[in-house]
Amino acid sequence: MSEQHQGYMKALKCRECGREYPLEATHVCEFDFGPLEVAYDYDRIKKAISRETIAARPKTMWRYRELLPVAGDPTVGAQVGFTPLIKADRLAKKLGIRELWIKNDAVNYPTLSFKDRVVSVALSRSKELGFETVACASTGNLANSVAANAASAGLKSFVFIPSDLEHGKIVNSLIYGATVIGIKGHYDEVNRLCAEIAGKFGWAFVNVNMRPYYAEGSKSMAYEIAEQLGWRAPQHTIVPMASGSLLTKIHKGYQELVKVGLIADSQPKIYGAQATGCSPISTAQKAGLDFFKPVKPDTIAKSLAIGTPADGFYALKVMRETTAAADDVTDDEIRDAIKLLAETEGIFAETAGGVTVGVAKKLIESGKIPKNDSVVICVTGNGLKTLDAVQHHCGKPHEIKPSLREFEALLAHEEKVNA
Ligand SMILES: *Cc1c(COP(=O)(O)O)cnc(C)c1O
Repeated sequence: MSEQHQGYMKALKCRECGREYPLEATHVCEFDFGPLEVAYDYDRIKKAISRETIAARPKTMWRYRELLPVAGDPTVGAQVGFTPLIKADRLAKKLGIRELWIKNDAVNYPTLSFKDRVVSVALSRSKELGFETVACASTGNLANSVAANAASAGLKSFVFIPSDLEHGKIVNSLIYGATVIGIKGHYDEVNRLCAEIAGKFGWAFVNVNMRPYYAEGSKSMAYEIAEQLGWRAPQHTIVPMASGSLLTKIHKGYQELVKVGLIADSQPKIYGAQATGCSPISTAQKAGLDFFKPVKPDTIAKSLAIGTPADGFYALKVMRETTAAADDVTDDEIRDAIKLLAETEGIFAETAGGVTVGVAKKLIESGKIPKNDSVVICVTGNGLKTLDAVQHHCGKPHEIKPSLREFEALLAHEEKVNA
């Protein structure tokens, strides 16, 4: 491939030994089985973009396209990203922190989770490489996003999920006409099967053979946070962890902005959040270990339920290097945090959002995040897709006959109860 046909990418590079590979659909080093990552020509990128050129572009994640792994213009998911960054003053007061922001990917386009970022990159790159069928192993949101974005791009899609997912996540894959395969097992078993299928069929598996490109899409969340804060990184960013990939890419995103001269290096700290019922990474971090021990997931936070996280080792490394920390919350704490976020900021997050807000509360209460600092919480998915998790925990509507008298009686009763 000539230089102008690979955009600003240089090669795929092994994270362990640094060996380089052509920019194809491949993800592991043949020598040490290390994961491959996209390497870029940062000198050329630095010359090509500035705060002004970026500001003049449409408000999508593709305004940072030189830093994303496509050779030409994106052909899938051109509208994705640039979700709101909300100044969350009411929640800040409850959590006892000076400055708090919510990066709200619960309203990402088109499938209401941060996964639209990774999928638009993976499918755009899959088309560049000539694939007609795409697939994924998913805990739910990825399946939704692959199904929807493949439909609009005219690609055939196969999505593999644990068969016990939330109803909303299953319907949200089927509706787009994807072939949905429910596997009787945990995500880690789904993933193992998909590795075998990816080797046998010539498909673009977004998080298997396309993983080096796919994972890069997550960096756009960091670029947007920094630009929306007026071109600075927050002191603390709190990120939910499933495989741990998003956390490592938020770190890489901030570092790249420093490298190409768009922000100053303020040494931002990146914190990881998990559910206690599936907490291999946070458990290792709290014990001061470099490696995690695989677990069997048992939590309502199904989107984060990966017991053998592919990027767990690198997520631990980022937290160590930025002197940050991880923590985890129980299912009850997750539900309480979903309610707290909804009642203070009017944002209905899925279980992963409850995990992140719950862990933010713990990190602030314990003093690990100082009360006078600035914090960004990443809310990565929408509560409408995980209604099962909270439906019996948020009360019931008051039922009355269509009568003014009954309504007034109800109000009087409520006043008495709340007095
Ligand atoms: C996939 C997902 C994540 C994080 O995934 P990583 O594998 O750690 O990159 C976070 N939140 C939600 C809602 C997700 O669906």
